[in-house]
Amino acid sequence: MRRLRRTKIVATLGPASSSPEMIARLFEAGADVFRINMSHTSPDRMRELVAMIRGVEHDTGRPIGILVDLQGPKLRLGTFEGGSAMVKKGDSFVLDSDPTPGDATRAYLPHPEIFAGVEPGHTLLIDDGKVRLTVTAAQPKRMVTHVEVAGKVSDRKGVSLPDSTIPFSALAEKDRTDLEAALDAGIDWVALSFIQRPEDIAEAKKITRGRAAVMAKIEKPQAVVRLSEIMDLADALMVARGDLGVEMPLEKVPAVQKQMTRMGRATGKPVVVATQMLESMITSPVPTRAEVSDVATAIYEGADAIMLSAESAAGQYPVEAVTMMNRIARETESDPTFRSIIDAQRAEPEATGADAIADAARQIADTLDLAAVICWTSSGSTALRVARERPRPPIVALSPNMSTGRRLAVVWGVHCVVTEDAHDQDDMVDRACRIAFKEGFAKPGQRVIVVAGVPLGTPGATNMLRIAYVGQELAGD
Ligand code: PEP
Repeated sequence: MRRLRRTKIVATLGPASSSPEMIARLFEAGADVFRINMSHTSPDRMRELVAMIRGVEHDTGRPIGILVDLQGPKLRLGTFEGGSAMVKKGDSFVLDSDPTPGDATRAYLPHPEIFAGVEPGHTLLIDDGKVRLTVTAAQPKRMVTHVEVAGKVSDRKGVSLPDSTIPFSALAEKDRTDLEAALDAGIDWVALSFIQRPEDIAEAKKITRGRAAVMAKIEKPQAVVRLSEIMDLADALMVARGDLGVEMPLEKVPAVQKQMTRMGRATGKPVVVATQMLESMITSPVPTRAEVSDVATAIYEGADAIMLSAESAAGQYPVEAVTMMNRIARETESDPTFRSIIDAQRAEPEATGADAIADAARQIADTLDLAAVICWTSSGSTALRVARERPRPPIVALSPNMSTGRRLAVVWGVHCVVTEDAHDQDDMVDRACRIAFKEGFAKPGQRVIVVAGVPLGTPGATNMLRIAYVGQELAGD
């Protein structure tokens, strides 16, 4: 089974989509990667979901990516007398280290590390920005704030500090436990929430040790400022527009999205655009025109993947939401301006054999109107470099490693087939043609391009490019 689009779809699982039947339906509708959000999932439930996804993978014979999204160091208030209090504009409001219930004048902030990171003038947002405070005095165990935007503060509401760099790790205790459980369950990608610095990625990589690829969620202004250093260490980025739109002025989010998709094209690392893409489909079978346009914009930007959150996790129309994304992607990618926009954003190849071959493969595929670019790839790196070129024909990646196939599920244009390594160059070309035919990418008599590293199995040695005919004898197969 092949997808008729290049942009991938990530669907978040939740109460609306946690049965094997529903996961199978979402896959059939177009989901390439399933996301499990550990903010709302226990390790036991995560393991059950992983088993269900692997069951669907087994039944369909297609590698499916599993992305486990860690909660990260989400900051929260303590509790209040009676559960809540109203703070008034112009009043003072104190946040302190006293665990007794708060009121309209003060609240407990159970994160002592915050006090070291705030300075007078910094903003503090409560409940996704519904209440806005400005710090007027910062002391070692308390801070005094001025209420800029009034509202209700209640038990355990989230706190955001867009201006302050807080000296804590991106992996809280819960995240470490969840991460170990996810790695044991054999997941493919782990997403890190609320990272602030490149060191946060390095810390996670010390734990993952290659057992899963690491996706950096960009949702804090501190991370935006250090985007290129973070990109150097991460395996992929997510434009986490939900929290980004709380921590930054909303009108700045589209530019950050553009910056990140451009960076993805330049570095050849996948970028996922997330949150509120088809938000109205949580309760409606049809999205708004603006949502359709937003999804199309991400596709025109060359994003590797577009993501559904509550639409597929908790909405009334999960299958319809995936189907809609699939339709938007197919239509947008067939628009004649899509190709010119994608080509205009192409980054120059780096001075490596892999990039020279990937660049040449794209040009040859264009000149000869080839049916597919087929690459043999062990770690997935050759496929990533070919995808970076955004060639016109589909990319078929052949890998002996199931984990490579699953990780490549998030990458633009790549259809991965897990197959044993080729014995020699002739076998490599012959099998590439047979698989391209069998998977519906090339017909007998059509030509394809085959890219590989010879000798086989030498990582980073992409050095071979062959143009090959798909033999007429396959017509009888
Ligand atoms: C986001 O904030 O956009 C996001 C994807 O993170 P979460 O859904 O975990 O809040």
